Amino acid sequence: MIRKNRLAALFASLAVPLVACASALPAQAKPAPAPLPAPKLVLAIAVDQFSADLFAQYREHYTGGFARLLKGAVYPSGFQSHAATETCPGHSTILTGVHPGRAGIVANNWYDLSASRAEKRIYCAEDEKDPASTSGKPVVSAVHLRVPTLGERMKMQWPASRNVAVSAKDRAVMMMGGHQIDAAYWWLGDKFVTLKGRAPVPVAVAENAMVGALLKKGAPAFTPPAYCAAHDRALKAGEVEIGTGRFALKAGQNDAFRVSPRIDAATADLAVALASDMKLGKGAALDVLSVSFSATDYIGHAYGTQGVEMCIQMAQLDATLGSLFARLDKQGIDYVAVLTADHGGLDTPERLDEQSLPDATRVDVGLTPGKLSAALAAKLGLPAAAGLVSSDGPFGDYYVSRALPDAVRAKAIIELAALLGSSTQVAAVFTHEELARTPLPAGSPQDWTLKDRARASFDPERSGDVVSLLRRVVVPIPRAAPGYTATHGSPWDYDRRVPMLFWRKGMTGFEQPAPVETVDIAPTLAALIGLKVAEASFDGRCLDLDAGPGNTCPVAK
Ligand SMILES: [Zn+2]
Repeated sequence: MIRKNRLAALFASLAVPLVACASALPAQAKPAPAPLPAPKLVLAIAVDQFSADLFAQYREHYTGGFARLLKGAVYPSGFQSHAATETCPGHSTILTGVHPGRAGIVANNWYDLSASRAEKRIYCAEDEKDPASTSGKPVVSAVHLRVPTLGERMKMQWPASRNVAVSAKDRAVMMMGGHQIDAAYWWLGDKFVTLKGRAPVPVAVAENAMVGALLKKGAPAFTPPAYCAAHDRALKAGEVEIGTGRFALKAGQNDAFRVSPRIDAATADLAVALASDMKLGKGAALDVLSVSFSATDYIGHAYGTQGVEMCIQMAQLDATLGSLFARLDKQGIDYVAVLTADHGGLDTPERLDEQSLPDATRVDVGLTPGKLSAALAAKLGLPAAAGLVSSDGPFGDYYVSRALPDAVRAKAIIELAALLGSSTQVAAVFTHEELARTPLPAGSPQDWTLKDRARASFDPERSGDVVSLLRRVVVPIPRAAPGYTATHGSPWDYDRRVPMLFWRKGMTGFEQPAPVETVDIAPTLAALIGLKVAEASFDGRCLDLDAGPGNTCPVAK
């Protein structure tokens, strides 16, 4: 693509003298295209774990929905700029236009040691004040999201505007939809479900019936495209064999359905059905339809990013997107589409080791909260207390028990930071105080320090007493398990860089390789649709989607 553009530029520079003596050639000056009218629907798509690396690897093969998006404004280096590259923080940036620290979404799970309920672990998309909620089985809510989403801002300006969000993951729905969602659906076990106190609408019931029939009957394996052949090789990640899967679905294997391209197809089906049922894009005001596709993430975790499984998924996702666009076109909806990801991802370390990255390794169990609790107790001369240190895993936010007297606790925090920092697998450790003192980073996210990245996903109330960042290619899964051999969550660019693709019918496409940020998406869309937003509401900036001298952003006076 870039090569072709360079050639085109070269010809353009040669063309002037040629045109002067060749009257048969068309005239040079083309009238500037008229500015695009505002669309009727914002179609915001997130592909979970769709790294800029996967996009670069597969873009030459795209023939479906991605081929359309490639004709729009292409930003191959979008950044989820923060350190906590997990699903919930990542989704929280896309339609709020703010970093996760400001959104209050510091991780998928954090600890509130002063919570009134017995369980102190808080899931990002639960209402823990509801006695029925636990972090594992949440009463789903956006109560922790501190800022409005684009759909909510649209409702403030245009009360008739509808805000709809669909995904396999509840947290993706809540972070893209927000507090006021007209229709919210996610996958739970064997069907799509909605918010507490609401009944699923008939089209959702119908979609569940179709999926239910498929789950009962099973489905054949996918045939990988020819270009997947080199990926089709068995690999052992610990005891787990991966690399040659084809997603054959045996009857009743509901989890195999979830970890397959089929969950994306079902998500798209439900989105199309809701669009049709609610007449999205046909009402008195602009609507927003958020669709987050989860299969790429589930498949990345289960099989890594470089097996035949991901290759099949990339082809199927392209087809699912193509079908989604075609069916919305058929409904006659005039939409602007944006596609990005909540974070990137890294391959399974056992495969990385074979493919030129011998430094890739699994995290030391010594960095898990249980082991750290014991080590810290020994160091401080405290009785070995379980729960002295809490964390959601062997990296990120660590919390020191509030049961300790203040002076002991202050010492424990310093010792914990020292313990973490002494690990050869840890790149940087920051205390809560240190991050609270750090100003919000600005400038190109590519150049941010590790502290800047940690600051962008820091919230003074919710972040840990200590934030620990693992070294590059240390995979924070101590032992591979079925469904979980690879992951993301690091402050490194394989987890931070994601594509950002904007498409609108009739637009002239272009590619801008410079770093941009996912927090730029909301201000970009807001300008495009004429949404009035108070100054400093966003951390990101408006991206000009006009390829020529026109500008889709407000021009400074
Ligand atoms: Zn994930």
